[in-house]
Parts: sequence; C-alpha cells; structure tokens
Amino acid sequence: MYKMSAKPMISAKQIQTRVKDLATEINSTFEFDVILSALTGAFMFTTDLCRAMANFKHRIAFIKASSYGSGMESSGKLKVTGLEKLDLKGKRVLIVDDILDTGRTMSTLVSMLKEAGATDIRTCVLMNKEERRSVDFHADYVGFEIANEFVVGYGLDFDEDYRTLPEVWTLEEV
Ligand code: 5GP
Ligand code: MG
Repeated sequence: MYKMSAKPMISAKQIQTRVKDLATEINSTFEFDVILSALTGAFMFTTDLCRAMANFKHRIAFIKASSYGSGMESSGKLKVTGLEKLDLKGKRVLIVDDILDTGRTMSTLVSMLKEAGATDIRTCVLMNKEERRSVDFHADYVGFEIANEFVVGYGLDFDEDYRTLPEVWTLEEV
C-alpha cells in the first residue's frame, strides 16, 4: 500500500513561481526553434513553461519516452517513440522532461537528437535527483533539486494515478 505525504513536497505556488523564473532564464540565454517535451510526465510542466515564455516563434513537439512500466523502479530499457517523424536537422532544440533521475533518458535523447542533426541541444527538467545519477549528465536548466524520493503530481504518476494534482507530493509505502 502507498499513500501520499501529509503535505506537498512542492506547493503549486512554489512551482508556478519557479516555472516563471525558469522561462525567463531560458528566454535570456537560449534561442531555440523547437521545444521537445517527453510525455507523459512532462506535459503539465511543458504547458506552464510555454505560457510563461516570451518567445512564441517556435514549434512544440512531443515524444514518448518510457522506461518505467508500472511501479517505482525504472526497467532500465528506454523506449522512445515519435522522434522519427520530426525533422530536427539544423534545429536548436530545448528538451523538457519532468525528472532527471539516473540520467539515462536525457542522455539517450540528446544522443538521438544529435544523430537527427540538431545543431544546439539544451535540456530543462522540473526536478533533479542528483543522488540517483548513474550516467554523467547535467541539465542546463533545473527547477528544483530534490532528495531521492518517489514523487507524484504535476504531471507525474504512479501507475497512471496522481498526474493531475497541481502540487508535487512524495509517495510513501505504508
Ligand atoms: P532517468 O532515465 O533519468 O532515470 O528517468 C527519468 C524518468 O523516470 C522521468 O522522466 C520520469 O518519467 C521517471 N521518474 C524518475 N523518478 C521519478 C519519480 O520520483 N516519480 C515518477 N512518477 N517518475 C519518476
Ligand atoms: Mg518521463
């Protein structure tokens, strides 16, 4: 059995404030052609981030990157779909994901984008679990540094539940 923490780990207000600051930071440091968002976890973060951006001359694209299946442990095998349909040759791309955990998803996506001919690739994550990293990878833009806990809400699920919560919560085994 699992239950949500008594209080959110990150409140909706904290998220909204940080997302606006991130958008400003990105706007002033990176001119991009495409925002590439990793479904499904990053959907809420991506929409809020886009709304806070001054740059509106760009394309929004979604890919599906999954390594989790069901449960709390990553299967380790990354499945990426939707990338083959995008023409990223010569494009400057901002990759957006929910969490940087082991780093495998982001480092694999960056390699795939390089192979697809993207010229400048930067990465943005809402949360970073530095402690969990198994490959050498750093995101260019990070919303929150968090401890090694399983989190849900604000796009993130546990077996497809909790995604629509506006806050980030930790999930505890009881
Ligand atoms: P990585 O490839 O960096 O190990 O994993 C990144 C992906 O794992 C994220 O995009 C996210 O989908 C999933 N993930 C990692 N940590 C958590 C977590 O605490 N909660 C949820 N719901 N998903 C997580
Ligand atoms: Mg994900």
